[in-house]
Amino acid sequence: MGKVIAIANQKGGVGKTTTTVNLAASLAAAKARLKVILVDLDPQGNATMGCGIDKHAASVTMNEVLLDEAPVGTGLVFSESAGIQVLPANGDLTAAEVALAQRERGAFRLREALEAIRGNFDYILIDCPPSLNMLTINALTAADSILIPVQCEYYALEGLSALLSTIEQVKASTNPGLHIEGLLRTMFDARNRLANEVSGQVLEHFGTQVYDSVIPRNVRLAEAPSYGQPIIVYDPASRGAESYRELAKEMIKRGRRAAVSV
Ligand code: ADP
Ligand code: MG
Repeated sequence: MGKVIAIANQKGGVGKTTTTVNLAASLAAAKARLKVILVDLDPQGNATMGCGIDKHAASVTMNEVLLDEAPVGTGLVFSESAGIQVLPANGDLTAAEVALAQRERGAFRLREALEAIRGNFDYILIDCPPSLNMLTINALTAADSILIPVQCEYYALEGLSALLSTIEQVKASTNPGLHIEGLLRTMFDARNRLANEVSGQVLEHFGTQVYDSVIPRNVRLAEAPSYGQPIIVYDPASRGAESYRELAKEMIKRGRRAAVSV
């Protein structure tokens, strides 16, 4: 059964989409040759484009999937550059957000849709929008766990309490098994004193839930999406590529450890 992980933080610009695309591609390129799906749940469709898929050309997108207008399998598009399957999104997804909020059991739509395909994949990563709206609630309801990117800058911790209370609400209502997969420090600049301070605070609050892998600030990571390529293809020797390969390894290793302790 594939593991479903929501990449979420209601703060914008913290590295959710960059992490979803590059972690997905790195898992697929790992020794184990894992089968990965990226679910784009942001109407901006940045993850879709970052995988080299035209968000306007896709005939079936997450909008149709969530509104039950098309079976989930018909929405899968293979990304040649990332080596993963993508369920694309574009601006139409905003309509689904509104419709689901009014629908009974609207929070469960993604979970129900993924049931048909999760048996055929190892990892399903969901790129969430920058808000705690119905789309994010769908992601957290469908997910086994949540990966939280944290930008090591001022106010990084401020939004986390709202996110943690949303996680508690979801556990109490739609998904009792939801747990934190890990916190990921992103856009880290080791020369910056504030970044080191914030990193220290994150470690203090969340301890072993924080990944050892750290994503450095690396301009190559910001360039890659405009070529529709993950960093491991765009510039495999860059520090950004190295850091996401490390993260994929760490995630696989942690997954194995968890499986042994069950
Ligand atoms: P989110 O999805 O949380 O809004 P993004 O992943 O889109 O955040 O990142 C916000 C911006 O920062 C994008 O322009 C992206 O290319 C850039 N970016 C993300 N991570 C890094 C990094 N480690 N180094 C440099 N730029 C980055
Ligand atoms: Mg994003």
